[in-house]
Amino acid sequence: MELLEEPPASIDGGVGVGTGTCLGVGVGTGTCLGVGVGVGVGVDTDTCAGASVGLDGAMTPSTSSRSASAVPSAFALVPGMLVSNVWLYRPEGGPPWLIDCAHRAERRALLSGLKRLGVSPDTLAGVVLTHRHSDHAGNARFLQQRFGTPFYAHREDAEVLEARAERPRLARGDGSRLAGVLAGIENRWPAATLRIERGLEDGDEIEGLEVHWIPGHTRGSIFLRHDGSGALLTGDTILTAEPPLVRRPGLFLAYGSFSEDLQKAWRGVAEFHAQGTPYRALLPGHGVPRADGIRHEVVRRLDELGIA
Ligand SMILES: [Zn+2]
Repeated sequence: MELLEEPPASIDGGVGVGTGTCLGVGVGTGTCLGVGVGVGVGVDTDTCAGASVGLDGAMTPSTSSRSASAVPSAFALVPGMLVSNVWLYRPEGGPPWLIDCAHRAERRALLSGLKRLGVSPDTLAGVVLTHRHSDHAGNARFLQQRFGTPFYAHREDAEVLEARAERPRLARGDGSRLAGVLAGIENRWPAATLRIERGLEDGDEIEGLEVHWIPGHTRGSIFLRHDGSGALLTGDTILTAEPPLVRRPGLFLAYGSFSEDLQKAWRGVAEFHAQGTPYRALLPGHGVPRADGIRHEVVRRLDELGIA
């Protein structure tokens, strides 16, 4: 298969959080925490943060110690990632896996973070993508080409990542002006085309991780649930940081500007919980990990929003 061209070199600049906010400056939104990085990078980094649905404010920001204690021992948050979370998963007795692989602007941070965890990329058994957006799949082709890493994603997103299906464009939606611009950037600089080892289906299991298909943020968005530890990896469908800049802690669901079908995403979250599937720790695509009754908290909020 012919692979797409790499994005502009500036995107590989290796700068994290500031990039997303800096873009805001470029488009006049007035926030710049960032460092001198190309505009294109910045926009892209926060593109798939999901969006507030009014869940804001009810959560207490976790301290770092609380956050660390919320992570089951089979998992670790790759350190140093500023835009989106990359989770290391160590199945008992097996080689390590990653859940998502960050935006390409954080390539160096990803490699450095893995090194700090004692993981060499060429030992990865594979990477499972929660969805295809560029801040989660941005280093997929790089890892595949450099280290031969196998990638797994839900069939719907796999078809897009393999360029076998048309990529749905994000509408600018009803979110903030910045969110609309970020959506436009995701449209312009999506994750590069790569080969997917196997398209996942709802109910599949991969290395001890159950696949729960929760379409809406993207058609192929999934939750991954680890029965042994009670961990639930939620990508951008449930977040613990406020979009679009994902700086402020809170509890959020995906929303319009970054999602293909917002109502479907919400219904999917409600149905997942209505089925009674248990989990004890929530490991999101953005924000801190949460435990301590997080499932009950999500259900209560869904109920308050009338989507339970
Ligand atoms: Zn996303």
